[in-house]
Amino acid sequence: MNTIDNYNTRKQKSQAFSDRISSHLSEAGNKSVENCGCYVEFVENYNGSKRRMTKTISCKKKLCPNCSVREAYKDGLKIEVIMQYIEDEYGKVFEWVTFTVPSVGAYELTDKINEMKTAFNKLMKHPKVAAMNKGCIRKLEINYNSDYDTYNPHYHVLFVTEKSYRNSRYYISKYKWIRLWQNMMDDTYITEVYAKPVQQSKEDTSRVSRYVAKNQYKDDNKNESADKDKEQAILSNQEVFDAFQNALYRKHPVTYRGLCDKARKLYKAGGLDKYKAVDKTKYTHSVAYAWGAGAYEQTGRRILTDDEKLKFKQ
Ligand SMILES: [Zn+2]
Repeated sequence: MNTIDNYNTRKQKSQAFSDRISSHLSEAGNKSVENCGCYVEFVENYNGSKRRMTKTISCKKKLCPNCSVREAYKDGLKIEVIMQYIEDEYGKVFEWVTFTVPSVGAYELTDKINEMKTAFNKLMKHPKVAAMNKGCIRKLEINYNSDYDTYNPHYHVLFVTEKSYRNSRYYISKYKWIRLWQNMMDDTYITEVYAKPVQQSKEDTSRVSRYVAKNQYKDDNKNESADKDKEQAILSNQEVFDAFQNALYRKHPVTYRGLCDKARKLYKAGGLDKYKAVDKTKYTHSVAYAWGAGAYEQTGRRILTDDEKLKFKQ
């Protein structure tokens, strides 16, 4: 539910974000962050119990509390649809593998991520991986440990495999993955690689896609304490913020390869719309809010025109 309370919370957080990012941006960049979410418009049903956001102003910064939650939602939906499409149309399944490295200090973080990228490209060409992998979705996530002031970058990778993969000679066990990743990273201290199959059910596909897509901030509806601590550290500690900002600068957090890249292009062109859940809500009104003194204030509510009703009826 798009309650205005959620928007209030995010916009309040974005004040701290605006302070933290200020030295990284030009005057125009800072202005755009300041204006992010200063206006929000929704369509809603007759009693306001269902809402959909239709208009806002976004700064599109990766660490913006307003924008990153929306990006994570969009990425989650995209990944879920792509996975469903590949399962249905190609009869394939997904293997979820997480590649970690030993934690590093802020000063090493960007170099470590670059190293991981090179190692991952090498890993994709390894004959054992090339044999099982029909395409993949890779997401970079960084965890922060405030007790030790260390960062843990890791990749969540969803590999497309044949249904028979886990019982075939192409199967790569957790221990084999560890050895492969150690070789590619040239680091025998790597001990943590997780590998598990994604169950062929809508629930599991949905759960995994959301988990993989989640950004640096916690979901408004969940109370995962590790994510909450990370969010707190990023928004309140300039050094932590700078480390995340520099590490994520000009990087695509989610990348698609092979069959997944083909599906991503199709998704972008609208070719996979039938896999999206249909919103059956009858929208009747438009309601607008502007950011005022520390909270959103409703600035208008009106009945939708017939053309608009048609537009929001999907
Ligand atoms: Zn923003």
